[in-house]
Amino acid sequence: MRLIFLGPPGAGKGTQSERLLRYLRIPHLSTGDMLRSAIAGRTPEGAKAEEYMSAGQLVPDPIILDMVGARLEQPDCAAGALFDGFPRTLGQAQALDDYLQSHGRPLDLVLELRVPDEAVIKRLSGRGRTDDRPEVIAERLRAYWSQTRPLTDYYTQRGLLETIDGIGSPDEVFERIKNAVDKRRGSGPRRSPPSSR
Ligand code: AMP
Repeated sequence: MRLIFLGPPGAGKGTQSERLLRYLRIPHLSTGDMLRSAIAGRTPEGAKAEEYMSAGQLVPDPIILDMVGARLEQPDCAAGALFDGFPRTLGQAQALDDYLQSHGRPLDLVLELRVPDEAVIKRLSGRGRTDDRPEVIAERLRAYWSQTRPLTDYYTQRGLLETIDGIGSPDEVFERIKNAVDKRRGSGPRRSPPSSR
């Protein structure tokens, strides 16, 4: 399965994607994680990206697309992928569509985790990441609403969007996600995967 996880920073995407990955056993493509590891590895892309990230702004599309393109070439991605924090702009969404289409690997589902701004600000303030300072949070939310949220229309038009209410306990939210995923797979509730050793 190939799916996209959309939602503002602090909506709980991190927690929920961990669960979803365990459930679906597909590779995790988190551009935020990739960028943080590029920064830690002191690569030129990392240095460039850090300027934008520390200001709460989106990293330019070419950097993101090169990174994701390289990751998608790895053999494990043939089986599926959970795109987390990507795409974040229409340009990225179109580039992903082109790539997936030309490889005969269509998207199955786009999950939008919906949480009001007040809840997001409260959650992020307790997290302690360097881009979780109040002024940076405000900028990240602005970037989300102006550049990323429009993707919900883009994916609604393609019949791929499912909106999930992100308010509730992690278990409650995951139950909603699982229902949306199972419905899309058309297989009803899935047999539990073999336990990992
Ligand atoms: P995240 O961990 O997904 O919240 O991402 C942290 C930061 O990395 C964001 O605030 C952006 O500056 C940058 N970033 C992550 N993914 C993308 C993306 N797909 N496009 C542009 N910037 C991104």
